[in-house]
Amino acid sequence: MPAVDLKAHFTAAARLFRVPTDPDLTRAQFDAFSKQIPLLYFILITNTIAVAYTYVPLAPAALSMIVPAVLTAVTGLRTVWWLRQRHVVRSDADILRNLRLTNWIAAPIAAGFTAWSFALYPYGDPFAKSQVAFYMAVTVIGCIFCLMHLRSAALIVTLVVNVPYVLFYFVVTGEPTLKAMAINNLLVSGAMVTVLFIYYRDFADLVSNRKSLLMQQAATQALSDENFRLANLDSLTELPNRRRFFAELSSAFNDAERRHVRVAVGIIDLDGFKPINDNYGHSVGDRVLIEAGRRVREVCEGFGPQRVEFARLGGDEFGLVVCGDPEDVDLMRLGERIGERVKLPYQLDTAHTGLSCSIGFALYPDSATTSEALYECADYSLYHAKRHLRGRTVIFSSELEAEIRSRGVIENLLRTSDFGAEMELVFQPIVDAMSEHTAGFETLARWHNPRLGWVSPADFIPAAERIGLIRPLTQVLLARALATAKTWPDHIRLSFNLSAHDVCAAEGILPLISIIEKSGLPPHRIDFEITETAVTFDFVRAQQSIATLKAMGCGISLDDFGTGYSSLSHVHRLPLDKLKIDRSFVADINENPVSHKIIKSLTGLCDDMEIACVVEGVETRAQLDTLRRLGCDFIQGYYFAKPMPAAAIEDYLAKERERLDHGAAKVVA
Ligand code: C2E
Ligand code: CA
Ligand code: CA
Repeated sequence: MPAVDLKAHFTAAARLFRVPTDPDLTRAQFDAFSKQIPLLYFILITNTIAVAYTYVPLAPAALSMIVPAVLTAVTGLRTVWWLRQRHVVRSDADILRNLRLTNWIAAPIAAGFTAWSFALYPYGDPFAKSQVAFYMAVTVIGCIFCLMHLRSAALIVTLVVNVPYVLFYFVVTGEPTLKAMAINNLLVSGAMVTVLFIYYRDFADLVSNRKSLLMQQAATQALSDENFRLANLDSLTELPNRRRFFAELSSAFNDAERRHVRVAVGIIDLDGFKPINDNYGHSVGDRVLIEAGRRVREVCEGFGPQRVEFARLGGDEFGLVVCGDPEDVDLMRLGERIGERVKLPYQLDTAHTGLSCSIGFALYPDSATTSEALYECADYSLYHAKRHLRGRTVIFSSELEAEIRSRGVIENLLRTSDFGAEMELVFQPIVDAMSEHTAGFETLARWHNPRLGWVSPADFIPAAERIGLIRPLTQVLLARALATAKTWPDHIRLSFNLSAHDVCAAEGILPLISIIEKSGLPPHRIDFEITETAVTFDFVRAQQSIATLKAMGCGISLDDFGTGYSSLSHVHRLPLDKLKIDRSFVADINENPVSHKIIKSLTGLCDDMEIACVVEGVETRAQLDTLRRLGCDFIQGYYFAKPMPAAAIEDYLAKERERLDHGAAKVVA
């Protein structure tokens, strides 16, 4: 056992004299070293010169001049080498090799100077002799101090100088003064070595702490990079998300502003996505979004020379930032390519076609001067595309700007307008297709504003919806329409348009019910017209409102049928009385086989569902004849009459009676 212990002690002791292998520690040692070693050699050389100077007259020239000159030259060269290390970048292996070399060199250099000192000693007088003793003691302390960072070298020097020193002065010389100096030197060196051990341990700890701190920092950085990535990524499509999009937009905008080049924002909205989601379920909807996103991303990545950033903004909306001075033609080209790719079939249960996308673009500096305003303009272009150019690309233009301005003007004037004084109603007959008798009138609102003149309901109804005034407006109009209808013959019905906001409001339609009850007009004479879009807006609420009106005895017509994308399942689930086929199909019914086919299938649908079919926008006899053949029940349009004020109705009905009586008389005759 003791043998093993001895071996372990020996290994531990040997390690003290070896350079460590931890690369972080050796690098730190090397750095500290390259600053201190020149100082060490400075101490060594100046002290050596001082002693040599004293001994020139006393000792042979070889000893007092040549040997110190050689030793000084060797150390001088090492000094120069170390000074140059400050500017050299070294590998870990290189550093280790150099430190080991330093360790090895320390012994011969220390031995050389020690031997030289002893060789001089006999030539000196007592003063010169004690100078040698002093020289050795002071120099070795200075050197240990400078070698602090490389414990092995410091220990080697201490041993190589101090062991012979103490032996020589204490044992060989027998001089009491020198003996005292030797003891002194021994004690001071002991203290120095203790300090060396403590200092070296702290130094090594410091290096390893710094290392673990750096590792910790790197780990924290990696974690925060990952968080940053996730916070900027859409979890479904793995595309950059809304937050990322706006950051990208703002930096691209600032860049374009600085470099005086164009930058564009685009917003993409999928057309026909909602029915997929409703009919096939959300997981299929998600797959379609992922696939559509992938396709658009591919187009963006392959687009040039402009750089296109692409992100999912939410729902079925995606955003584009086009950098690199794009022109209108580039944006149209990009929009077309995206549109083509999105339109390709999607593999759902079967290959599904019918998805397309509308895109709105706005360009800096043509359209706006801030990134927020630029986005708003793109949003408006998209809105315009959705309403008028579905499935196409629209770039913000001065016409759209004028439109926005007039929208703003309308909204402001509507806010301060007195509905009672400025709103009027006109009435358009809905005529039985076969008998040509007027079955009822549709109420259409008119706004006469002192500044704007007559404003179309197509403009002010959406404005009232936007600024939250549609519900009070509906209430004023309904009360007035009911009062007018009360003056009509009992068999004439009233059709009244409701907005999506009336039907889907959280408070329900109770105010409208109390207006109907107060009016005294029997509810079974009223039809409420509700658009397809209003129904899809919030199906559950719309269903509740419709059920309530229906329970009162009112009729329900689905307006503008064929323009929205309500799925047939919606139509089947609502207690409808009439379907109003949009006038866009009527205009070319005799020229366009597609329109003809659509109306034919819609009348068939009405037959199946046992509800009446009303066709709007009939302007010619030829259209009427075709529609009759197709089995339409009611006709509305300029062919019979344009919308008229309430005061004109009595006269109109009288004329109609006269005309039909006359016709009947002719037939009888
Ligand atoms: P709508 O309910 O589809 O009304 C039919 C529109 O077609 C009316 O336009 C009418 O004047 C027009 N029209 C009727 N026959 C013909 C025709 O033969 N040819 C052509 N080219 N047009 C014809 P108007 O009065 O400008 O109303 C536009 C829209 O504004 C209405 O469309 C309706 O959605 C909305 N609206 C009108 N009044 C009200 C209202 O009191 N409340 C609500 N919520 N919306 C209303
Ligand atoms: Ca209508
Ligand atoms: Ca309509």
